[in-house]
Amino acid sequence: MLFIAVMILAACSYSSIGNEISVMEEEGDRIRVGISLGTLKEERWLKDRDILMAKLKDLGAEVFVKNANNDDEDQLKQVRYLLDQKIDVLILVPNDLQKASAAVQLAKKYGVKVISYDRLVTRSNVDLYISFDNIKVGRLMAEWLIKKAPKGNYLIINGATSDHNTKMIKEGYDSILREKVERGDIKIVAEEWAPDWMTEYAFKVTDEILQSGRRIDAAIAGNDSLAGGIIEALAEHRLAGRVPVVGQDADLAACQRIVEGTQLMTVYKPIDKLAEKAAEMAIRLARGEPLDIRKTIFDGRYYVPYYVLEPVGVDKSNIEDTVIRDGFHSSQDVYRNLP
Ligand code: BGC
Repeated sequence: MLFIAVMILAACSYSSIGNEISVMEEEGDRIRVGISLGTLKEERWLKDRDILMAKLKDLGAEVFVKNANNDDEDQLKQVRYLLDQKIDVLILVPNDLQKASAAVQLAKKYGVKVISYDRLVTRSNVDLYISFDNIKVGRLMAEWLIKKAPKGNYLIINGATSDHNTKMIKEGYDSILREKVERGDIKIVAEEWAPDWMTEYAFKVTDEILQSGRRIDAAIAGNDSLAGGIIEALAEHRLAGRVPVVGQDADLAACQRIVEGTQLMTVYKPIDKLAEKAAEMAIRLARGEPLDIRKTIFDGRYYVPYYVLEPVGVDKSNIEDTVIRDGFHSSQDVYRNLP
C-alpha cells in the first residue's frame, strides 16, 4: 500500500494556488510526442531536434526523441519503442522514403497520428507532410548557377535516392536546366547519387573526374555537406573558387565558404519556422483538432495534407540580410576565417 502511495505521489507534482495546495496529476494529462530522426549527421538536424523539443515543451508536451543513424531497422525498432511510451503523435523524419512506411503502419495500429517531417514517407497516407518547397530548392540552385555559368560542363551530385527530397530537388533544377541542356549549352559531365548523403562520396566522384582530365565548369550539390566534398576535391586540383558550386542548408561551413568565395550559394531554410509549426500541428493532432490545410501532395498512393514553407537563395550579397539577420549564424562565426 505504502509503496503504491509513494509511486502515485512520485508521478504527481504540487502547485499552490492561493492558500490551497493542489496535487495535479501530470503524466496522465500531458500530451506525449515521439520524434524519430533518420539521422543527425548534418548540422541542421540538431537545430530541428532542439527547436522541436523546446517548442513542444513550451506547449506543455512531454517529448521522447530517437535517432536512427541512417539505419532503417533501427528506425523501426525505435518507433516501436516510442509507441510503447504511449505517445499521442509521432514526428517522423524517414531515413528511407519507402521502408519507413512500416513505421507509419505500426503507428496507425496504435492509433497514433504521424507527421512526416521534412522528408515524405511514400504510399503511407501520413496525417501531415510538412517541409520546405523542395522543388523550389532545386530551382533556386539552378537559377543561381546558370547566371554564373550559362555554358559548360556541369557536375551534379544528388543526395540519397532513399530520400524523397532528392527527387523533388532534381525536378526543380531540371526544369531550369532542361532547355540549355537540349540546346547543348550545358553538358552534364556526370550525375551521381550519394548514398546516405555522404560527403566522401562527393569528394571521390569529383576527384576521379578531375584526375581523368575532364573539365568541370559548375557543380550542383544536393546539400552543403556534398558541396563541401566537391570543393575539397576542387581545392586539391587548385580549382576551389574557380568553379561555382551550389548547395542547400546554410550550414555554417557553407556560409564561411560563401564569404571566402569557394561556394557560390546555398539555399537557406529557416528551421525554426518548420520546427515550430510542426510542433503546433503535433499538438493539434493529439487533441483531435482539424489542421485546416487545403494543399496536398501525392505520396504515390494517397493525397496527404501538405504544409509548405519557402526556402531562400543566399550568396555573398544577401547573407547579412538573411542567415545573419535571423540569427541562424552569427556574423562572427560566418566571417571567422577571413583576415
Ligand atoms: C534535407 C536536407 C539534408 C539532407 C541530408 C534532406 O532530406 O532536406 O536539408 O541536408 O536530407 O540529411
